[in-house]
Amino acid sequence: MSKKNITLGIFGGGQLGKFLVQSARKLKIKTIVYTDSNDSPAIYYADDFYVAKYTNKKTINKFIKKIDVATFEFENIPFNTLRYVTKKIKVYPNPNIISILQDRLKEKNFLNFNKINTTKYLNLKNINKKKINKNFFPAIAKTRTLGYDGKGQTFFKNKKTFLKYQFKNQNYIIEKLVNFKKEISIIITRNKKQIYCFDAFQNIHKEQILKFSYSDANINKKINLEAKKIAEKIVKKLDYIGTMCVEFFITNQNKILVNEIAPRVHNSGHLTMNAYNVSQFENHIRAVCNIKIIKPKKIHKMMMNNILGKEIKYYRSKIIKKNEYLFDYGKQEIKEKRKMGHLTKLI
Ligand code: ADP
Ligand code: MG
Repeated sequence: MSKKNITLGIFGGGQLGKFLVQSARKLKIKTIVYTDSNDSPAIYYADDFYVAKYTNKKTINKFIKKIDVATFEFENIPFNTLRYVTKKIKVYPNPNIISILQDRLKEKNFLNFNKINTTKYLNLKNINKKKINKNFFPAIAKTRTLGYDGKGQTFFKNKKTFLKYQFKNQNYIIEKLVNFKKEISIIITRNKKQIYCFDAFQNIHKEQILKFSYSDANINKKINLEAKKIAEKIVKKLDYIGTMCVEFFITNQNKILVNEIAPRVHNSGHLTMNAYNVSQFENHIRAVCNIKIIKPKKIHKMMMNNILGKEIKYYRSKIIKKNEYLFDYGKQEIKEKRKMGHLTKLI
């Protein structure tokens, strides 16, 4: 595959898709976006796009005919669709990996099987609720599939409130609440021959949605290295191709626990666009198109502020200062907590 002739198909048309498209253009790779929504920032930048349901076989067939390789900007594309596409063309990362990482239970089982520490968790299906030790609380119930930005999560202060709760179905995990000192993420890219990580980012969530990311994470070198090693182990075990994000909790005892894995480019890596010599998006495009990936080098210390919902109105009229970079995703509908843009600034 010579890079000049590649047309890359991208499932999903959000801001992550938009940044992927822009990086592909820089590398002279054509992109076609497939999204299920008209209000998708990526479609304005791609060479072509389709708006249809992710299960629409007719449109998927047209899409496949026009592309050489496919990837996705979010992991909740129906597994059957990705599996169907992969019978005709290469999809990176491999959809079999996604079937593990789309499901919080399978993901945590995979990690623990490989001796990687996670939060303590229970499978709602397997437990006798009354017999859970009361010390397991406070805890959080999370839907096994389709959750993001805290969606599908319920907090239980104690066993009493948990026993009273009526679950809609059994497809939940119950996670012990971690009293963490810091949340960090490692963004890692792997192609068939190379693996590179960015240094850890510190992440601050508000109401379970990422609000701020910092590079540096201000953690000691040992923890940074340990987190990178865990991320490397994960991509190798999965034979993963592309960019991945691993979210961690650092406990008060400096223990590292994996919170979750995002098999895609990630919000906490937005500042790689300004703070590093190469962005998480460019390295993802390179990896999935079988081009050499670039070793990340930090150029600036930066922070990122996620602009949610109505906050965008303020930023659209704000005068942007020197060393600040505003990214307005150009989404038409402003919804509460919707990611509308982000501001990166030097620190
Ligand atoms: P999502 O897929 O919605 O990002 P996460 O599991 O990452 O789901 O949860 C979102 C945020 O909620 C986390 O980044 C963290 O701040 C908080 N959180 C989730 N699980 C726990 C836990 N077991 N203990 C403490 N905080 C948690
Ligand atoms: Mg998360």
